[in-house]
Amino acid sequence: WKKTIKVAVSGAAGQISNHLLFMLASGGVFGLDQPISLQLLGSERSREALEGVAMELEDSLYPLLREVKIGIDPHKVFKDADWALLIGAKPRGPGMERADLLDINGQIFQEQGKALNEVASEDVRVLVVGNPCNTNALIAMENAPRIPRKNFHALTRLDENRAKCQLALKAERFYTSVTNTCVWGNHSTTQVPDFVNAKIGGEPAEQVINDDKWFKEDFTPKVATRGGALIKKWGRSSAASTAVSVADAIKSLTTPTPEGDCFSTAVCTDGNPYGIAEGIIFSMPCRSKGDGSYEVIDDFIIDDWLRAKIKESEEELLKERACVGHLIPN
Ligand code: NDP
Repeated sequence: WKKTIKVAVSGAAGQISNHLLFMLASGGVFGLDQPISLQLLGSERSREALEGVAMELEDSLYPLLREVKIGIDPHKVFKDADWALLIGAKPRGPGMERADLLDINGQIFQEQGKALNEVASEDVRVLVVGNPCNTNALIAMENAPRIPRKNFHALTRLDENRAKCQLALKAERFYTSVTNTCVWGNHSTTQVPDFVNAKIGGEPAEQVINDDKWFKEDFTPKVATRGGALIKKWGRSSAASTAVSVADAIKSLTTPTPEGDCFSTAVCTDGNPYGIAEGIIFSMPCRSKGDGSYEVIDDFIIDDWLRAKIKESEEELLKERACVGHLIPN
């Protein structure tokens, strides 16, 4: 047997976790030969619900699930974590300004960043899902100087999956034929689904679909506003597909990326090859050898359309960073 990995999850009593935890425990994410221990973070609000989640996990008799710990203190729950999946965040309420949300959630991620810094494994991989996820990840990273900056991610894999779905539907091809599809930037409506570098059946997507108006006026806004459209239909935000995309994001880091393909993940822009401002968490095309680390692919074509869109998302993230300056140590 491999050594048990310790996976800490916040917002563990929430909707996304309700799907994700069972995927993790079953071996569907880290592999069928990988024992796992789950360390679940909740709050006073969710204490009873969290006990219920732990009961359900235990009653499922997963052979790989070695331990389920629950708690409300991140300094205890994040102890020795190899992975930290930070899902819990206050949802945006009616009439709430983005700056208010940034501040309230920023405080949560400041505390959790400090806790990771003190008690997590020094090579912990951190994936932030709770919104606004890019800036929350930035705050956690800046409050955890002991942990390499490269180890912090914000989830944009759901956006990539949505983009691939739309390309496959339009081209009338199966999803698996769509590759090299990056979503750049912020996990917000300024995100940039990249149809310039995407491939369908190994051919450039723009040659296969050959409809510039569709790419710019239908595809791009449809992917960027998919989350809001789903809330209108369901009355709640995407949970199952988000959990699947978290699993995909982890698998992309723990298995080698096929030749000529990429995955999207929002990571620190320090030293990036595209001239994007440094010191923000920005989704870019990446590749991994499967050892948990990644490199940013440096040869994506950036045409005028992509350049202008990427700039808008970069400006939004710089504004977000300015709003949370008080949560970032000098
Ligand atoms: P839920 O509302 O089901 O759960 C969120 C959890 O957040 C709650 O269980 C709660 O747990 C916790 N939480 C932390 N602080 C607060 C607070 N101040 N007020 C209320 N709850 C709080 O949400 P989901 O699981 O559906 O979504 C979780 C996050 O993921 C959201 O921020 C959502 O916007 C984001 N998201 C991100 C996506 C992405 O692609 N990046 C896609 C979809 C969703 P506790 O009380 O235990 O702390």
